[in-house]
Amino acid sequence: MRVYRGTFVNPLNDRRYIDFLRDHIVGVQDGTIAFVEPASRLGEMATIHGFNPESDVSVFMGNQFFIPGMIDTHIHAPQYAFTGTATSCPLMEWLEKFTYPTESRFSDLGFAEQVYSKLISRLLKNGCTTGLYYATIHNESSLALARCALRAGQRAFIGKVAMDRNAPDHYRQATATAIEETERFILDARQLNSGLTHPLVEPVVTPRFIPTCTSDLMSGLAALAAKHHCLIQTHAVESIDEVAFVKSLHDAEARHEDDACHCSGGETGCLCERDIMILDKLGLLKPGTVLAHAVHLKEEEAALIKERGAAISHCPLSNYFFSQGVLPLRRCLDWGVTVGLGTDVAGGYAPSLLTAIRETVVSSRTLENRELQEGRVGGPRLRSELRVTWREALWLATMGGAQSLMLANRLGSFAPGKLFDAVLVDPQAPGSPFDVFIDAAAGGERPRAQGGLDTLEDIVEKYVNLGDDRNHVAVWVQGREVVAAGGQLVAA
Ligand SMILES: [Zn+2]
Repeated sequence: MRVYRGTFVNPLNDRRYIDFLRDHIVGVQDGTIAFVEPASRLGEMATIHGFNPESDVSVFMGNQFFIPGMIDTHIHAPQYAFTGTATSCPLMEWLEKFTYPTESRFSDLGFAEQVYSKLISRLLKNGCTTGLYYATIHNESSLALARCALRAGQRAFIGKVAMDRNAPDHYRQATATAIEETERFILDARQLNSGLTHPLVEPVVTPRFIPTCTSDLMSGLAALAAKHHCLIQTHAVESIDEVAFVKSLHDAEARHEDDACHCSGGETGCLCERDIMILDKLGLLKPGTVLAHAVHLKEEEAALIKERGAAISHCPLSNYFFSQGVLPLRRCLDWGVTVGLGTDVAGGYAPSLLTAIRETVVSSRTLENRELQEGRVGGPRLRSELRVTWREALWLATMGGAQSLMLANRLGSFAPGKLFDAVLVDPQAPGSPFDVFIDAAAGGERPRAQGGLDTLEDIVEKYVNLGDDRNHVAVWVQGREVVAAGGQLVAA
């Protein structure tokens, strides 16, 4: 058993709340957390669990703290090749112009290995211990992504992308081929875990999105997901041009005999020619389905997502560039929809969940400001209920991600029975992009309103708003140290 002693920033399981556990001990056996206790119980725990309180305990005191490994619920691995560029055109044009040509190159395994290994080491250093990835349509390079993750020790949910229409001839497959290759990928990817105590890579059924997938392909994939118990990922109601394109594709089949629609859309209009209803009819909306973006969601559609137990991956940075809208995140949370955060590289250029957390807060404020400006909410005290705090955003990047992947019992926080995925944060690491000011005389814990300096919560908030990989002095995935002191990757 390995025991870690220090401060743990710990999201609660069932509420969007963060606990600050000072001077605690976390015992880890075979990658799994055995106990989380105050350090005052060290001797007792040592007796119960049979460890040496001297040699088996790693102590991290001072201002360092642990956070749970962050979970990226939406990232396009091949697009890392061009992330940081190509942010200037609408979604459907961007796909044609930049995305499909780059993704096509991943038939070249050497190129795939090069990009994927760099991406995974970047993400691990940035504190991302689990990724929900789109690869490309190619089976072999999708498996290469899985091997890169295994080598580096990152947990990876990987989709071989399926598409059979509205993409260049050389970058789509016939319907039957896309289904067969997806099934072959599921079987091959699961093989890669042999010999591991806890599986690290997991295949995900991945119809790219409705514009590039026929209904036959999507229902075939839904059947595969059910047969092999796979998660599903796709995009939904992301942007105005995408919503319009789907409407144009499904207009005819949505029309009913008497030309009247009987869907639940009611006064807000027909839902049958929109993503959520189409996905539901084809069997793709269920627990373990992660819908990226969902910016242009209607309330009835949010209710359906909740009813089906699916989740939304909120990708705020990408949404600024491509969605022509802002996800009403606060409302989605209030409606009870499960939400995780995604970087959406390369639609969002930053491969960092800290950026996603910050943009989550900023985009909620953007929406709030717009409603205040338009006089739709507020009043003299200028308060609205639309904002999302940094604590909630951090919760979404950890527990929210775990819930989205149906792994809330295994990931997302420090609790007995969960896997030890952790990031050790040192606010005073060399080169740290922010400074802390401790009130030594007051023990550092006098509230600022009483003239105090940084409290523990203030330091965590500074890290969330200002920190980066320089503050990540170590990272663990299921108990294995994958980034060691100094930010070096620990090879398998
Ligand atoms: Zn995407």
